[in-house]
Formats: sequence, structure tokens, C-alpha cells
Amino acid sequence: MAAVNLLAFDLDGLTAWCDGLGEKRFRAQQLFRWLHQKGESDFARMSDLARSLRDKLADAATVSAPALISEQASADGTTKWLFDVGGGNAVETVFIPEDDRGTLCISSQAGCAVGCRFCSTGHQGFSRNLGTAEIVGQLWFAERRLRQTLGLPEGERAITNVVMMGMGEPLQNYAALLPALRVMLDDHGYGLSRRRVTVSTSGVVPMIDRLREDCPVALAVSLHAPHDALRDELVPLNRKYPLAELLQACNRYLEAAPRDFITLEYCMLQEVNDTPALAHQLVRLVRGLEGDAPSLRCKLNLIPFNPFPESGLVRSTPQRVAAFADVLREAGIVTTVRKTRGDDIAAACGQLAGEVQDRTRVHQRLTRQPIRIHAAPPAGRTA
Ligand code: SAH
Ligand code: SF4
Repeated sequence: MAAVNLLAFDLDGLTAWCDGLGEKRFRAQQLFRWLHQKGESDFARMSDLARSLRDKLADAATVSAPALISEQASADGTTKWLFDVGGGNAVETVFIPEDDRGTLCISSQAGCAVGCRFCSTGHQGFSRNLGTAEIVGQLWFAERRLRQTLGLPEGERAITNVVMMGMGEPLQNYAALLPALRVMLDDHGYGLSRRRVTVSTSGVVPMIDRLREDCPVALAVSLHAPHDALRDELVPLNRKYPLAELLQACNRYLEAAPRDFITLEYCMLQEVNDTPALAHQLVRLVRGLEGDAPSLRCKLNLIPFNPFPESGLVRSTPQRVAAFADVLREAGIVTTVRKTRGDDIAAACGQLAGEVQDRTRVHQRLTRQPIRIHAAPPAGRTA
């Protein structure tokens, strides 16, 4: 019998599995706490579990994060880990320390099928979904590793926030994502509050609704354009779920969300989506004044584009970012400009590339065509 990786279970899953071993629920809780609160992987050291249970666990189970390929520390304190997930695929995880928190940026897929123009992961194409154990394994590994390097006392956490903003589209890997989120939130697990766990999506509308029902954590939506014609070019998924539908789904989400706004991410691309005219159009969009799209309570997070060689795109100058932000702020929209962290180790947003097998065809499709820039949306389309 192949050993089961216990990082694949949320507490209900672990309880059911322990039940199969003839063990009671509170044993599963104890075990869960050993795994996720203490970061223990050696069953022999789980001192308050009966010897007989420890023996059974040693026979039937393992606790294993994906294999580490490399660890890189940036001058600004950011740490990036590269993990081998088999078949020539690797994924990246990034820790970003700040004064009042420590944020872990986790990957959900090897590659990504959405294929956004400005994203290095998108240029690789899709390889495969990560399993729950591989998603949780990134958190489990990072917390354990950081506790060692930072020498934290028992009970203190290095990671206070999680963002699903690494490689992949989390809402296209929902089956594995959901138990992983539950492990993060569980009081016997990482005990993170819903507002400290953020799922970032390019806009998979039906799955935004599912997340609202199953596990409403903080939501970030990668917008990048205020009208459909431009968003179709930058985020191809927009052709399936256009802006009006996306903003409606965001409004439904707000009914259950732990915060009373949605974060909209906007990657600043010079001359592509960063003009004052588009900033004004973005204001009208979130006010509900464009096409069929409803108004939305939101905050804007402007992300200066992190270039990578094949993109053919340019980061907006600080002046252009500031001018764009001014338009939004003058309209009363809370707007932040994301500081680029971990630039020197290619750990910044959209630079997570991993080491994947060459997917030359996707790559060519994405690099060959220039982006068509529409001054105004063509007639007949929303926004
Ligand atoms: N697939 C999800 C989450 C991963 S991407 C999503 O798209 O939301 C996380 C964030 O990084 C997204 O907002 C994405 O648009 C942004 N991003 C991707 N490539 C980037 C780049 N080259 N520079 C800056 N931000 C980028
Ligand atoms: Fe995928 Fe997000 Fe990158 Fe788009 S930005 S290709 S959805 S990871």
C-alpha cells in the first residue's frame, strides 16, 4: 500500500482517514496540530500520541512537501524557494517580510492555462494542477524553514498572511485549492483569519461563486483593463467571462466576503493600459457607468509591470503610474502602488517562471502578435 501524504488532508479529511485506522476525532486533531502548528514530520516525536498509533502512522503515512531545488534570499529580505513537482516541472513560493506581517505567496499550478500576455507563468503554458499536499506543502515547508532561520519562539508564526498569487490560476484548480484553504484557516492548523488569506483570480466567474459559498476568503481580481476589447487582449479568459459578468460576480462575492471591498489588481504596462483616459474609464467602470457592468466597492492595487525578456512589454514609468493613481484617488478610489520586492532574485509578481519543459508553441503564440490597442471600446461590447 502506498503511503498517504498527510499534507493532502484538511481536518475533516484527516478525521475520516484516521477513522479508517480505528482512531477517534480528537486523535486526528492532535495529529493535525503536530503537522501544522509544530511543523513535525517525524511520527516518533509526536509524544502525546499512543505508541500504537505512531506505529500505524509510520506504516501508512508520510508528511512531505515537494522537493526543494533551491532557496534564494533577496537583499530586501524576500526569500524564494523553487520546488520540484516532477515531470520536469517546478513551482515557486515567495516569502515577503514586512514590519507588521509576513506574507507567503503560494503557487497553485505548474504553468497556467490562462495565458496572460504580461505574465511569465502564462508564457509557459499549462503543465498540471498541484495537489492539495503540494499547495499546503509550500506553506508547511516555508513556516518550518523560516522558524528555523529566524529562531522564533514556540507558538510564534513567521507567516501571518497567505496570498494565492504565485504560479497558476487558483480557481482553475478548485478541487485542490479548497481543502488547502481550510488547512490555512483551521484553528488546529495555521489559524489564519479569512481576511489574511487572499485568493487572486483572473476572473473565473463560476468559481468565484463557488468560493463564496464554500470558503469566502479575501478576493483579489486581476483586472488590468477597463474595457473588454483591451482586457480580451491582456487576459484571454475575458472572452469567456467579460467585465460585466465579472463585476456582477464580485458583487455577489461581497455578500459573503470577510472584507467589504474587492481588491482589483492592475498591472501597469507602458502605453498599453496606463493612459489617463483609461484611468478615467476605470473610474467609470467601477462606478457602474460603463455598459452593463455594475458598480463595485473596490480598492485598486497598481502593480508596475515586472519585465521578462520574451514579453515585448515595458513597465510604466513612475510618473505614468503616479498620474494614473492620481486620477483614481481624485475620484475617491483607494489606490495603492505595489512596491516591487525580490526583484533581484526574479521573485516579483509575474516573474515566477520555474523550470519547465519547453512549451515553444504557446510561447510563440504569445510573443508573435502585437497587442492591438483600442482607443475606445468597439461598439456592441460592454464597457
Ligand atoms: N492567476 C492569478 C494569480 C497569480 S498571478 C491571477 O492572475 O490573479 C498574481 C498577480 O500577478 C496577478 O494580479 C497578475 O496579474 C500579476 N502579474 C502577472 N504577471 C505580472 C508581471 N509580469 N508584472 C506584474 N504583475 C504581474
Ligand atoms: Fe495565469 Fe495569473 Fe499569469 Fe494570467 S496572470 S497567466 S491567470 S498566473
